[in-house]
Amino acid sequence: MALTDVTTGEFRFTHITDYPPLVEEIWRANPRELIFPEGNAAFLERLSKDFGGIHFSPVEESYFSKQAKERLRSLKLWSGPEGEWDQGIRAAGAIISFLERNSPEVLKAIGCLQHYRASQYLMIDETTRHNLELLRDFQGERKGSLLGILDKTMTPMGARQLRQWILYPLLDERDIRQRQGGIEELVGDYEGRQDLRCTLKGVQDLERLASRIVAGNATARDLVAVKESLRALVPIRKRLQKYQAEIFALIERELSDLPEVVELVEQAIVDSPPPVMKGGGVIRPGFHAELEELRSVRSNAKGWIAQLESRERKKTGIHSLKVGYNRVFGYYIEVTKANIKLVPSDYVRKQTLANGERYIIAELKEYEARVLGSEEEILKLELSLFAEVREKVASFYGKLKQTALGLATLDVFLSLAEVAQSRHFIRPRVDSGLTIAIREGRHLVVEAVLGRGAFVPNDCHLDSESHQILILTGPNMAGKSTYMRQVALIVILAQMGSFVPAAKAHIGLVDRLFTRIGAADSLARGESTFMVEMKETSRILRDVSPRSLILLDEVGRGTSTFDGISIAWSVAEYIHDAFCRPRTLFATHYHELTDLALTKERVKNFSFAVKEWKGQVIFLRNLVEGASSRSYGIHVAHLAGLPPSVIHRAKEILKNLEGGELDERGRPRLAGVSEAHDPAQIMLFTSSDYKLREELKRVDVSVLTPIEALNYLHRLVKEANREGQ
Ligand code: ADP
Repeated sequence: MALTDVTTGEFRFTHITDYPPLVEEIWRANPRELIFPEGNAAFLERLSKDFGGIHFSPVEESYFSKQAKERLRSLKLWSGPEGEWDQGIRAAGAIISFLERNSPEVLKAIGCLQHYRASQYLMIDETTRHNLELLRDFQGERKGSLLGILDKTMTPMGARQLRQWILYPLLDERDIRQRQGGIEELVGDYEGRQDLRCTLKGVQDLERLASRIVAGNATARDLVAVKESLRALVPIRKRLQKYQAEIFALIERELSDLPEVVELVEQAIVDSPPPVMKGGGVIRPGFHAELEELRSVRSNAKGWIAQLESRERKKTGIHSLKVGYNRVFGYYIEVTKANIKLVPSDYVRKQTLANGERYIIAELKEYEARVLGSEEEILKLELSLFAEVREKVASFYGKLKQTALGLATLDVFLSLAEVAQSRHFIRPRVDSGLTIAIREGRHLVVEAVLGRGAFVPNDCHLDSESHQILILTGPNMAGKSTYMRQVALIVILAQMGSFVPAAKAHIGLVDRLFTRIGAADSLARGESTFMVEMKETSRILRDVSPRSLILLDEVGRGTSTFDGISIAWSVAEYIHDAFCRPRTLFATHYHELTDLALTKERVKNFSFAVKEWKGQVIFLRNLVEGASSRSYGIHVAHLAGLPPSVIHRAKEILKNLEGGELDERGRPRLAGVSEAHDPAQIMLFTSSDYKLREELKRVDVSVLTPIEALNYLHRLVKEANREGQ
């Protein structure tokens, strides 16, 4: 798979051998348009099912041919090896062929092809990205997402880069530490940080500007924006040179302030050019001699006309005679009705008005031709001078792009440092161990909504030895999902190189993050919620690795109780017994699952503390070791305002359930009975007790002696016991 963003020149490819990871990668790239070889109807059908909003462009096979690949080389976009990457390079070649045919103007803006490996990064699938609200919250808004909270960037380039950091958290400890080092230094330098942010504010989207310049559609305003942005680089570089962290030296090396570009634009282009070129006025006075001359002809026109006007007034004796201009007739002389008799014979009448006449004279027309000609020439010359300047700036494309990337990275560092300080984050320890130990972790988005004092921090300890699976119980609304998400977000932040919302954190690197949380909204795709749930679960079990972190919330909820418990139980056992021992948080309302800890050594029970006070439930939100004692669901239902009769009845059914009174479908046997009936009138036999009923029908109690009756009862009890075993 290869991908490009023509607005920034990004151009990269990777090698994927299976359909599911391909889908994940497409989700991550989130493209507008997908180009693929035509004639593969099944593939198209599959793709269009997974990607509703993307434009599909099937193309001839030849787009992906060897020639397309060679075209890449001849355009100097790829000079590396091929071998195992052959397919990816062909895909990149197809992009180039496609652009050559459809938008050749953007071709120049495409940067050199880069290879990347999806496995260099923490893999976060689309469901997880959605569940964790990484880029958008469940309402589709940016502000309630992780990105929304972290984004304090000052430039659009920085904002785009931050998005990439969130989507591609790192797996390399050294790279992560390098980023942490940068953030740490910036956190410690409040003043410097504000200075840098303030300077960045004046920097425009250099990445997109550079692309427009090289594609030949930049305006004069774009060039001025480049100039202003480059000017900001001098103080930025100076400041960066003072820092110790290794990353700043690397960033500083990427930044070029390009004085030659600044000087050229300064000399050639006016400070605030008009938005469009149509009317000229873009080239600075004094930049070009010929242009100056033409401009002086134009500017002298006013004086010349005034002169002609006063001469003609004197000559004709018409004091109200006026020289004017309109688009249809050009320059003309206007005389009022009363003075028409004084008009000389060389005046040629052009237009009659209600109270006068308009005339032309040869001299005026000659002059007109000269002025209008100069106007045209000025515009032509301005356009060609501007194009020249733009071309010159375009020759710095590579450096401009690199500078833009360096600035974007700096912007992300500043943003993360800003958030780290204002939201009291700490630097986590990240290593290649398998322990995740978080003290007083917080969910940064929920905390941002509730306010700092209102959020109850919680610890987490996961490892592959004793705490591989934590079963989390507690009533609805206790905070289970928030807790699981908070652990995942802390891992993501840590691997982005960011600081994290906790008092202390030790993160053993995670390579894949899986979540099965809540009902995914795939109803539109025609799948039942339960089906989706099971599909997601099966994917997790199939793709899990030793470094994975799995979050399972209410697995098995979408089916009947017995089914659900069985599936949840067996999934948990499978994860426990799996060779790779992935770290797992398992939230469930099936209290029965807490028994797993009795037989599986790496399963530990945790629950959310709840207090009952005057018949009400108080959520304490803190996680404690051990299983929660009972279900508080009915209390929550009461709090939510369900009618008292419903609550009453629910309590009654719960009592029966707790007595083990379930039928084989997991339904309470007494579900049909309500308070209105006498609870004593319980049906003694259900349809499944057919055998017993038939047996009893055959007995004539009137002829049995007491001892026979007792023996008979004894036999029945024995049989029942035997069958029950
Ligand atoms: P559950 O998954 O157990 O049903 P949630 O995690 O959805 O519960 O939490 C319910 C609500 O409780 C959240 O919307 C949040 O407002 C609040 N909450 C959760 N955890 C905390 C916490 N640690 N501190 C304060 N409020 C919390």
